[in-house]
Amino acid sequence: MSKQRIEQLRALLTQYATQYYIEDQPTVSDAEYDRLMEELQALEQQHPELYDPNSPTQRIIGKVLDGFEQVTHAQQMLSLGDVFNKEELQEFVDRIWKQFPDAKFTCEYKYDGLAMALMYEDGDFVRAVTRGDGFVGEDVSENVRTIATIPMHIDMPGHVEVRGEVIMPKKSFEALNALQEENHQPLFANPRNAAAGTIRNLDTSIARKRRLDMYLYYFQNGEEHGIHSQQEALTSLQKLNFRVDPSWKLCSTFDEIWSFIEQASQKRADLPFEIDGIVIKLNRFDQQQQLGTTAKAPRYAIAYKFPAEEVETRLIDITLTVGRTGKITPNAVLEPVRVAGTKVSAATLHNRDRIESYDLKINDKVIIRKAGDIIPEVVRALPEKRDDTVVDFVWPTTCPICHCELVKDEQLADYYCVNPECPAQIVESMIHFCSRNAMDIEGMGDKKVEWLHDHHFLDSIEDIYCLHEKREQLLQHKGWGEKGLDKLFEAIEQSKQQPLSRLLFGLGIPLIGAKAAALLANEFGTMDALMQANVMRLQSINTIGHSMATSLVKFFGQDKNQQLIANLKALHLNMEQPQINQEEQTDSFFANKTVVVTGTLQQMTRKEVTETLERLGAKITNSISKKTDLLIAGEKAGSKLEKAKANHVPIWDEARFLKEIHHDE
Ligand code: NAD
Repeated sequence: MSKQRIEQLRALLTQYATQYYIEDQPTVSDAEYDRLMEELQALEQQHPELYDPNSPTQRIIGKVLDGFEQVTHAQQMLSLGDVFNKEELQEFVDRIWKQFPDAKFTCEYKYDGLAMALMYEDGDFVRAVTRGDGFVGEDVSENVRTIATIPMHIDMPGHVEVRGEVIMPKKSFEALNALQEENHQPLFANPRNAAAGTIRNLDTSIARKRRLDMYLYYFQNGEEHGIHSQQEALTSLQKLNFRVDPSWKLCSTFDEIWSFIEQASQKRADLPFEIDGIVIKLNRFDQQQQLGTTAKAPRYAIAYKFPAEEVETRLIDITLTVGRTGKITPNAVLEPVRVAGTKVSAATLHNRDRIESYDLKINDKVIIRKAGDIIPEVVRALPEKRDDTVVDFVWPTTCPICHCELVKDEQLADYYCVNPECPAQIVESMIHFCSRNAMDIEGMGDKKVEWLHDHHFLDSIEDIYCLHEKREQLLQHKGWGEKGLDKLFEAIEQSKQQPLSRLLFGLGIPLIGAKAAALLANEFGTMDALMQANVMRLQSINTIGHSMATSLVKFFGQDKNQQLIANLKALHLNMEQPQINQEEQTDSFFANKTVVVTGTLQQMTRKEVTETLERLGAKITNSISKKTDLLIAGEKAGSKLEKAKANHVPIWDEARFLKEIHHDE
């Protein structure tokens, strides 16, 4: 049982660490990661016979990306052990005091960025290297040179290696995410990931624009320069004009250490950068050396990690949004506050029950946090802080958009607007239809669809495929140019070839997500076959339960949906799923890879390429992102090629692609 759990945790933590360190895209919160790591550590301690040097508890997980020169560190770049409460911290210092009764400790901010080593020769900056796997890092000197606060010359002869944290200040992070939003690009989860992604980007102009900073905390070869303690190292770094936050303190007692932590956690929200804890280090280097290191972290230092950030703010209002299925979702409008790296002014309240169970009133003080460090949510209300400005929230009986009566779903505690003409539902369903996991129409983001609907260009999904007929009228409006329109029409035209699975998901059938849509499309092969299936037949498919089956039959039974599908057929949308041969797919080079195709190919049509790739298990998307594994570029490939180069996405020409598929097929 324990063995199984250990294996499961090792696999899970390795996966999370890869997403975090290598792809710069965490999928779980740091708190969740730390909790699983603690569980694994405890289990491994109970079962020393299951020791594995490759366990995530024993090694720093990192990887050198292709495209950067590899550099072996003169001395391993370590991580830090961590503690999460006062007792564990007390144990750590007591253990050291037992051996060195006169020991002093420095307390420093634990900057939330990525570790970096800087090298100087006779005063000149020569190289910057990431931590990588601790032994070998990436030479990212060109990007690091763009950080204005790092001196390119220092007043110290000989070889100097100093280390610190490259961070993205809160202000730069906000500006970057505002820009990402404006350009319909995915937002960065937090400043750490944004900093890491920027430093490891091959295009230096990106680092220049994004305004990073670096705080130093370590003198690697200090003793060669007459430095014998962490206190002297920090002072010397300050004198050499490196950035060192002046808040650090040398402490002789546990009370001093603890009060530093308490003060820092209060100041944390007002600091210009993110910190996720405090690092406590034994001061004298000779004592540090006696304690030594484990394979992963020094024994003379520890990180005290702050608990997941919960922040108090005020509930200004509750607004309701109408989803594509007509579901009404209440949202909290909040007095803006910073939580875990971003400014938060809205949070979901899920449903009416949640509002009632929290007994929420407008103007209440509330506690919010980020679920998974990403989605803000209200955790609880603080009725004890209520004053006479509070106002009851009255759940409406009609839709906030079309004013038709709301209907309650008895099983799900949700309320629905059931008016099929409700404009909010129409817009939301078109946005969903065009979205990345559905028909993936580039250039048809939320704002564009809303605008086109508001200006009477789009009233239904079918209208998307007739948009080219309104070319002249569109050109009359500001913001629409010939080139942009051609690109948009091309993307719309291309989307007609998407496989049935995507079309099904795009139709927004209640309870049918992308996975279920793919399952159904593979099972039935054509839209016609699926539409004829009854509840029993549908339920015979693994993971399609009664509710899903009923929802499908109900959807296909409605005249308006039958009409919609007939119209889409007449507009030549593909209604079939390319046949998949499981064996062929799992063996293929392309299995589970995210691929973008651009430019003109000579030997195959775009449709043939897409179908072949999908049959071999690839996911085809329209734009280059961090998730893209490969770009197949034909002739006249434009901006996607540039973006792929900048993001270090492997690029194949047609010949290379043909060679691989002939090998695969
Ligand atoms: P860490 O961030 O917990 O601590 C070590 C690092 O702290 C050092 O390498 C250094 O870069 C940095 N640091 C900042 N200020 C410092 C200072 N004043 N002195 C010394 N070092 C300082 O360790 P890590 O190995 O970089 O990352 C592990 C942590 O990352 C986990 O505990 C978890 O919170 C997070 N993580 C999250 C996920 C996820 O999926 N969410 C995955 C992997 C790791």
